[in-house]
This record gives sequence, structure tokens and C-alpha cells, in this order.
Amino acid sequence: MLRMWQFIRFRRDSCTDSSRPCYYGCYNARAVTVKQPNDAAPAMPLRQQVFHPLPPRSTLRYAASRDMSHTLILFDPDLAKHDPGPEHPESPWRWGSLGPALRALPPGIELRVPTRLVRAEDLFLVHSWGYVARILELRGKSGALDHETVLSAGSVDAALSAVGAAIEAVDEVIVGKARNAFAIVRPPGHHAGHDRAGGYCIFNNAAIAMAFALSRGMRRVLVLDIDAHRGDGTQEIFAARNDVLVASIHQIGLFPAEPDPAGVSEHINFALPPGSDDRAFIEALDGALCRADGFEPEFIVVSAGFDGHEDDPMSDLAITTNGYAQAVARIREFAEEHCHGRLVLILEGGYDGAALAACVAASISVLTAKTANDDVQPPEGER
Ligand SMILES: [Zn+2]
Repeated sequence: MLRMWQFIRFRRDSCTDSSRPCYYGCYNARAVTVKQPNDAAPAMPLRQQVFHPLPPRSTLRYAASRDMSHTLILFDPDLAKHDPGPEHPESPWRWGSLGPALRALPPGIELRVPTRLVRAEDLFLVHSWGYVARILELRGKSGALDHETVLSAGSVDAALSAVGAAIEAVDEVIVGKARNAFAIVRPPGHHAGHDRAGGYCIFNNAAIAMAFALSRGMRRVLVLDIDAHRGDGTQEIFAARNDVLVASIHQIGLFPAEPDPAGVSEHINFALPPGSDDRAFIEALDGALCRADGFEPEFIVVSAGFDGHEDDPMSDLAITTNGYAQAVARIREFAEEHCHGRLVLILEGGYDGAALAACVAASISVLTAKTANDDVQPPEGER
């Protein structure tokens, strides 16, 4: 039985066009009615379903021999089909802004469209059966999961492809086909919890990738979430696990609220005040890596959000492109010391086109450099 539910989307004071929805959390209330999917189980047992939402395509480009010394970049232009609306910050233009960065890659990189099939069981690694069923019923439909997680007809397929890319990147690194990898995906994932969407996120790409790494024999996995917003979904999913350590470095006071310290005590949170620069960011990262040292991870995933960039409109942090490059360099160094360099970056936020493209390009350069610190300037104060 279809049920109807309603939510109120607020408009920002600065918004002047009342004919369009706004996603920033402000006034001029606008009611949107969405059909909730049928609660009944799908006809085919969900556990047997396999999704290949986008047809396989030929490789975009090869710039390296296929040996384990190369960096793998997974990028799917069709993820632009997730279109939550022209005023939504997480919009397809983010993909357009990455084009120049991906056309000018340094040598030693394999750039390709991900092709891995996504199984329903991959989603069950971290999400509930009911949530997965609810999302899959929305394939090809428009709607909204909450006041800011908005779906277009291509959104669920894009979310499935993002999961596939994250798993493919982890798999290639585990089996030694790539030294390290960067899954450049959208929608982001780190706010999606076990049984819920949130903060533009549908499936938790990083959490699924980590759970996949555990299923492939990795005994301890580390998630470093450097997005400006706390990775609440990832922390919630792994709250009761002692084989996963989640460290989040984010701005205090942004979405979502800070956790009850007793609630996620196993995880590490560094909440930076507004205005924090490269030096504060790197100090927090060093603190997280110091805490992770005794954890002895066998695999590292970075929830690579770049919305703490000084030019990004979604935070008040002042991290530069070089600050992010420095962070990726330190994480790569840590991975090489602790887990044979097994490192996968998965894109989260980043809402200024030029800053996002620069941070992605800088991260790729660090991943593929001969040594982690080639061409990376130390932060102010360490020079
Ligand atoms: Zn963010």
C-alpha cells in the first residue's frame, strides 16, 4: 500500500526565486509531497538480485602499464545523472568541473569507468534489508528521502554505481592490481546510516567498501574522514565494531551535531573551530594517525571530502589545496608504514568547482608520486 508522507523544505533568506526549492535550510516554507515506496518485499528475493545500473563501456583512457605500481582512478561520467536540482549544492556540475583535472593526469595512472556488478548483498554489508528494499523501489523515480537528500530518476542507479566503484577500488588494491586507488563518485555516502539516508547520501560508499575489505580478509580497517562534516553515518554503522576505527576531522557546529561522547567512544573526532587553517588541519590529522598507530590497520579508506577548502561555500574552514595534498601525503606515508600502502580514497563533499578539481588533482598527484612527499609543500609553520 502506498503511503504519502510530507515534509517541509525551507528556503534560505538569500533565496529570491520562490518558484524553485532550496536545499540550504532556511525559510519560505515549501511543502513537497513524495510517495513512499511499498513496504512489501519485492517479488524476486532481494538477496539474489544483482545490479548493473549502467551499461559497461570501454576504458576511458590508459596512461600506465597494468602493474601493481600504478594508481587506479575510477570515474564514471554517468554519475552526473544523479540530479537533485539546479540549486542543490551536490549537483551534476561538480562532475563537469572535474573534466580538466582528469584530462591532465600525470603518468603512472590508470583512469577507467568502473564495471563491477553490485550485488544486493554488498549493500546488506552495512544497510538493513528494509532500507535497501525501500531505496531500490525508487529506481527511476524522483522524490526525496529527507529535506536535503533529493532523488532524480537517475539517482538510485548512480548511487549503486558509486557503491560498485568503491568496492572495485578496494578489491583492486587488495588483490594487488593497483598500488592505491581513488574512487571519484557521487552521491557522497558518509552521512548514510544503517537504516537511513542523510546529508545528500543514499548508500554509505566508504562503509560498504570497508565492510567489503573485512569480508576479503582484512582484519582491521581504518576510515579517515577528512570531509568538513562529521561522518556520522560511518561512525553509526561501525559503532559496535572493534575491527574498524573511524576518525573524523571536521568543523564543529556544522551538520550533523557532535555526538554524545559516550555514544561513539570507540571512534576519534577532531572538531576544528571555524577559520582553522592547514596547520590546525594537519595537527588534527597527525593526532588521528597517532591514535590509529596502535590499532595497526591492514587497510585504509579515506572519506575524501574537500568542502573544508578555503574557497568552499559549505564550511568556514580555511584549508588550502596544498593542505589537502599534505594530508593525503601523510596518510599515504602512514599506509606504507602500516599496511603495505593499501589505501583507497572515496570522494565525499566539495562544492566549489575549481577547488574540488584542484584538490582531486593534487590528491591524485600525491597517490602516484614516487614517494608520498614529492612536490608537496609542508604546511605553514613547518617550513
Ligand atoms: Zn561535507
